[in-house]
Amino acid sequence: MKGLKDFSRELCLINKLVLKIRKNTPISIGSWRKPANLLIKRDCYKGRNVSVIDLTLTPTGCEWAKTGGCTMCGEWSGSRLGKKVDAKYHISQFATGVANIIPKTGSPWLRIYQEGSFMNNAEFDNLAQATILRLASLIKGIERVTIEGRAQYIKDKKIKELKEAIIPPVELEVGIGFEAQDELIRMVCVNKGLVKKHLYNAVNSLRKYGVRSLAYVLLKPPFVSEKEAIDEAVATIKEAFRLGFDSVSLEPLSVHPWSLVEALYLKGLYKPPWLWSIVEVINQTDGLGEIRIGGCEYYPPPEVVSRNYHKNSNSCSKRVLESLKEYNISQDINVFNSFTCKCRADWENGLESKQDSLKTRINRYLGNLSIDKYIRYKLDGN
Ligand code: SF4
Ligand SMILES: [Zn+2]
Repeated sequence: MKGLKDFSRELCLINKLVLKIRKNTPISIGSWRKPANLLIKRDCYKGRNVSVIDLTLTPTGCEWAKTGGCTMCGEWSGSRLGKKVDAKYHISQFATGVANIIPKTGSPWLRIYQEGSFMNNAEFDNLAQATILRLASLIKGIERVTIEGRAQYIKDKKIKELKEAIIPPVELEVGIGFEAQDELIRMVCVNKGLVKKHLYNAVNSLRKYGVRSLAYVLLKPPFVSEKEAIDEAVATIKEAFRLGFDSVSLEPLSVHPWSLVEALYLKGLYKPPWLWSIVEVINQTDGLGEIRIGGCEYYPPPEVVSRNYHKNSNSCSKRVLESLKEYNISQDINVFNSFTCKCRADWENGLESKQDSLKTRINRYLGNLSIDKYIRYKLDGN
């Protein structure tokens, strides 16, 4: 097995390409009068079928993305490109968002996103962090607040501060992009810039202060085959629970605007995973712990998402998507038994296909890519 050092040339090239994409991304304009995005979903919360609020505040822009960032991520295109959003702006977006939605939902669970790191003062002001968490925990009926951040910012001092802002018994949960347990896949294919030690330390800090930890696990990062993707997601879920994460969100990769994955997708060098692959990962990890299926809460929203590549039929994908939603509510894998389809055989056959080595694939795909052309297409449509 090759190590990270053997991939330094590829990593360097990937970094160069993602940075070029970020440098050409146009700025996004939002309004302090409303959140950037607001969704109400059904989910399983402590065994109950409840409404959950997903509220996204305008991102300053992830600091990691400023230097290039992750290959699949398009958050930068919905952000202020690193110009820090004022605390008052975020607090106002939060307040108007919850004021309009809370009375209608009675939800016990509020998830606050800003597509970066909530606890990084450079992206999200200290005052906004404390005020928003305090306000969130004062809302009648709210039992859990989820935020997210890169492992490098999850340090004892900061977690203690955030924990003090939340009023018990409301619990705090922090989502962390674990993505893949394999260092090569996480560091090269995803360009995550975080080694396992960072993740381990972050989980320990959260545990110390009684904060729940949630691991985001990617299904099918770029350059990875469908079969490798399934095996890696299963291994990552196992590793996440072994490291001490309380729960996992399986994130089938989708195509985000202004990302390296989108550039690959447009050249036919990437396609999101089959829905059957999601079902397979869930079947193989059932019973290990609390697992949700995510992948659609992003801002800006992805343009192309996971589906079954069943010619001339959308109803097949619709049926499986329904069962994935049902799984999130019931946590019962039997929901997948009620439907099968002839395209399952195509999916299974595809898993057998022979692959070049990861290094060869990365070089071949990147060699076929013109980032200048992609950027021109994004800016002018040609
Ligand atoms: S996935 Fe997260 S860490 Fe990576 S660039 Fe996007 S916001 Fe930043
Ligand atoms: Zn089908």
